Amino acid sequence: MLGARIELVNVTKQYETPLGDGVAALRNVSLTIRKGEYIGVLGMNGSGKSTLARLLNGLIKPTEGKVYVNGLSTDKPANLTEIRRSVGMLFQNPDNQLVCPVVEEEIAFGLENLGLPLPEIRRRIEWALYVCGLEDKRYHAPHLLSGGQKQMVALASVLAMLPEYLVLDEPTSMLDPISRRNLIAQLQVLNKEEGVTVIFISHNPEDLIQADRLIVLEQGSVYMDGTPRDVFLSEEIRNLELGRPAVYQLIGELEASGLTVPSNVKSIDELVGY
Ligand code: ADP
Repeated sequence: MLGARIELVNVTKQYETPLGDGVAALRNVSLTIRKGEYIGVLGMNGSGKSTLARLLNGLIKPTEGKVYVNGLSTDKPANLTEIRRSVGMLFQNPDNQLVCPVVEEEIAFGLENLGLPLPEIRRRIEWALYVCGLEDKRYHAPHLLSGGQKQMVALASVLAMLPEYLVLDEPTSMLDPISRRNLIAQLQVLNKEEGVTVIFISHNPEDLIQADRLIVLEQGSVYMDGTPRDVFLSEEIRNLELGRPAVYQLIGELEASGLTVPSNVKSIDELVGY
């Protein structure tokens, strides 16, 4: 189980309830996430998305099966420090991730805990502020920033740890449309230019059109796994009430009327350009 990838092997996660009747949030899921991929994970509420996110960095353990990060199993406590360094997590509500009074300190916090030398801490802070567009917010108080800016500070803090894999669990659900677009654009840069593997989890199909691969969860199982185009133009996706991104509704209609739209068209802007 070596190699630069995350692997889920026959993973089932069952939660115990106070009444003793278990809920299987994931059922026998096997998946490989290769380094460098930009993956979207789509599913309705309750389909198992957050459970998958928390399994990926060992926050929770499978009831059955195994999760390996770069060959290290998450069920061995001795592996967890290394695994959590490799897999960064960004959650829905940035307020739960921000603990310091100043943006710069927030980004430094995890780095100081790693015991890194000061010049390295400074270098990483500069880089994280730059890639998240926060250079002018360096001395601001995170709690006084907008929701979108707070999410960027949380992202900068995670990125400063140089994770190989970045797992984002519904990161846009508290953002306005402009902040949402900014975050998605930033993820694209991080993946394509910095080589960060992105695993973006959402119930909103519009969030995931930039992904190279889309995994659809339904009732704890992998329902589909393919390119966004293949998934969103398929009949199967219509069986779920997730909706389709506007760009794929248009592509679907154009193709039904006999036009062929190139497979690299992923947005309305590109479609209009074409
Ligand atoms: P999603 O993120 O797609 O909404 P979740 O992974 O949060 O799905 O939940 C999947 C299923 O597991 C749901 O039925 C949910 O109620 C259940 N579940 C999630 N977390 C817990 C928990 N801590 N205890 C008991 N059941 C849980």
